[in-house]
Parts: sequence; C-alpha cells; structure tokens
Amino acid sequence: MNFNELIKKIFFVEILKGLAVTFKHMVSPSITRQYPTEKREPVPGARGLHALVRNPATGQEKCVGCGLCAAMCPSQCIHIYTSEGDDHKKVVDRYEVEVLRCVYCALCVEACPYGALVLTDHYEYAGYTREEFYYTKEMLLDNWDKYMPGEKGLEYFEKFWRPKSKDFAVHVEPVEKEGAEK
Ligand code: SF4
Ligand code: SF4
Repeated sequence: MNFNELIKKIFFVEILKGLAVTFKHMVSPSITRQYPTEKREPVPGARGLHALVRNPATGQEKCVGCGLCAAMCPSQCIHIYTSEGDDHKKVVDRYEVEVLRCVYCALCVEACPYGALVLTDHYEYAGYTREEFYYTKEMLLDNWDKYMPGEKGLEYFEKFWRPKSKDFAVHVEPVEKEGAEK
C-alpha cells in the first residue's frame, strides 16, 4: 500500500465522496413523476401491448397463420393453431401470446409479411394472475380496436414498420460513355 492509499483509508476519502454524491441529490430538485396522476404523453411507436390487425374488409384477423412471428420470437411466447378451411386455405383457429414472457423486441412485427401484428403504445396493464396475461386471438383483436382506432394503425405501419420502396431500390452506378471527355 502506498502513501496515497494509506491517507485515503485513514480519512475515509471514498466514503466521503459517496456521501457528497448523496447530499448533492438530496438538495437537487426531484424529477419523480407522480404516476398515475402525472403521466407521460404516449410515445408514438412505443412497444406496448400486442394486437392483431383486423382486416377492415372482412372484420377478421389479417393473420394467415404462417407462423413466422412465432418462429422469430426469442421468448417462444407466441402460439398459433391452424386448420384447413373449406377452400383449402389455412384458418387461424387460435393465436395466443403469453404477454408476461414477452421482451418487447418486436421481432414478431418485423417478421410478419402481412402487417398483421402490432405492438400498440398501450403500456398500462396490470393484473393479479398469470392467466390474465395470456392473450387469445379475440383479446388481441379487441386490442386493435381499442388501441389502434381509426388511422392510428395505418400511421403506425407507415411511420415505423412498413418497408419503404426507396429502401429496397436497386442502386445503379452511372455508366460512363465511351469516348466521353473526362
Ligand atoms: S415482441 Fe419479441 S418477445 Fe414479444 S412476442 Fe414479439 S418476438 Fe416475442
Ligand atoms: S407472421 Fe403475421 S401472418 Fe404469419 S402467423 Fe404471424 S401474425 Fe400471422
């Protein structure tokens, strides 16, 4: 132990430094929000409770049961059960999300080729049992009606998720003409 370290130990320098930080915060103004009376404005594009997009033409889910979202989910919390319909098309019998296991990475939303799944900006949900957070297809469709009304859902996809055609445009290098002056 050198002389400096010895002095620090004798005079509790590190402890005093820590206390100085504590006292500084004791006199600085508080920035605590008094939730729930004081709430933050909803953050557009925030990742909250899940919803299944309702197709306005049919009133049913847009989901076709391809299972890509479930395959991408790192928490394995999406469960899809399908059967074959009369016209040999896949029918989504059950679509369930175990919300308590979700880490809100939104990989499911990114993976969906149909824009059939969203994470809404609704974050205020609580409950007393795990079962309350096992969201069925009907509950997820209800979430769409409740938390993505009107144009909100469309805006969500336009702004945050829909791949823009310009992002996928092929970049073409300009071709120099033969004999052109440089
Ligand atoms: S947000 Fe992530 S963890 Fe949650 S359901 Fe989607 S893929 Fe799974
Ligand atoms: S990726 Fe989209 S269409 Fe496919 S099962 Fe998931 S939500 Fe449905």
